[in-house]
Amino acid sequence: MLDKVVIANRGEIALRILRACRDMGIKTVAIHSEADRDLMHVGMADESVCVGPAPSAESYLDIPAIISAAEVTNATAIHPGYGFLAENAEFAEVVESSGFIFIGPNAETIRQMGDKITAKRAMQEAGVPCVPGGTEPIGDDEKENARMARDIGYPVIIKAAGGGGGRGMRVVEEEDKLVESISLTRTEAKAAFNDDRLYMEKFLQAPRHVEFQVLADTRGNAIHLCERDCSMQRRNQKVVEEAPAFGISEEQRHSIGERVKQACREIGYRSAGTFEFLYENGEFYFIEINTRVQVEHPVTEMITGIDIVKQQLLVAAGEPLSFSQDDVKIRGHAIECRINAEDPYSFIPCPGEVTHFHCPGGPGIRVDTHLYNGYTVPPYYDSMIGKLLALGHSRSGALTRMKGALHEIVIDGITTNVPLLLELMQDPVYRNAEHNIHYLENKLKG
Ligand code: ADP
Repeated sequence: MLDKVVIANRGEIALRILRACRDMGIKTVAIHSEADRDLMHVGMADESVCVGPAPSAESYLDIPAIISAAEVTNATAIHPGYGFLAENAEFAEVVESSGFIFIGPNAETIRQMGDKITAKRAMQEAGVPCVPGGTEPIGDDEKENARMARDIGYPVIIKAAGGGGGRGMRVVEEEDKLVESISLTRTEAKAAFNDDRLYMEKFLQAPRHVEFQVLADTRGNAIHLCERDCSMQRRNQKVVEEAPAFGISEEQRHSIGERVKQACREIGYRSAGTFEFLYENGEFYFIEINTRVQVEHPVTEMITGIDIVKQQLLVAAGEPLSFSQDDVKIRGHAIECRINAEDPYSFIPCPGEVTHFHCPGGPGIRVDTHLYNGYTVPPYYDSMIGKLLALGHSRSGALTRMKGALHEIVIDGITTNVPLLLELMQDPVYRNAEHNIHYLENKLKG
């Protein structure tokens, strides 16, 4: 078993990891920046180490400082959470070469799956359906590029192999714009990711975002925990998520689920991961793999009863998964709303002191947050301050509970996006599950 885990993150996910460790009798070390001394999990951890000043680059992203914290506390393993260093292959490598266990896939898998061209090629080989288009980097031959675009059919999207966070992509509607678009995206990709390799694929006009949660151990076992819909997005950032995805049949779930499991075995995947797809006209198209625990993992936990973080800890300790695919049963429908300290309509961050916090409760409600009365949200980090979840027997039952919980929650002293979330829960298009990834953006414009 793991003896002591360093939690290399902050906020709600750090608290989530701490709770999983506590359940399993594993000791915890919280690392934090100078601005984060008052985080709830820092007070709850067995030990804590300040790793640097407020800016992430000097604390949560400082690899040597985090390794030193693990060394001075005699830790066994490091959990990266999501964001920060979670998908940094170099970090995973340094963790392991320093003698600690990295709680996630191995560095090679993170590197390969972080390269979208390599990832797409690996998925095609494993029989996972991908967006039509190339799996070779775009070259300099303009005629050849024009032929490729025509073969795929306009509109096409030019994407950076090293892209992330919704950056490094450009839609091309017609041939006249192709040369210029490739050149612009190449320049941006080089500047943002220090990698100017690009690839081209079909641009899907009105897809949904549907993703499969997987768990794999080091003994060759891989299972999937059903899918989630995360189509309610703003600027490629998820706002509301749910599981299971509406309108996905048992056959589709089984067919894609078996393929992602096969892909896990072929690439030697271990730990938790997510296969992201665009879903349009009844077809799935792979876009990328996230090699970490996701923000939205609790919706899956609510409908399956499986603790995903605990499974990550077990797998990291070399244990087999403690259940099989047949044990995974879906019960009900769960929705998650991301609560952000920001203006609900201008989206400008609103850090500050929470003068009063009332946490909603009751059957089927779960709140993952590090907020407490008197906590000050610092201005240096992501504005997400918590996640509110509701489970119901059906989607409409979950919606009703979510609406009630959003009415009940009180976060005084700072501005949050709760009014927008309440509006979304009452939006007829959302209620009827007729939205796609562009819906929220268009609604906000109109
Ligand atoms: P990132 O790693 O930056 O998140 P993704 O490849 O996951 O990049 O794509 C992010 C988002 O961009 C998707 O959720 C979708 O909204 C849009 N997108 C990406 N590829 C396509 C495509 N082929 N057609 C339509 N939209 C796309």
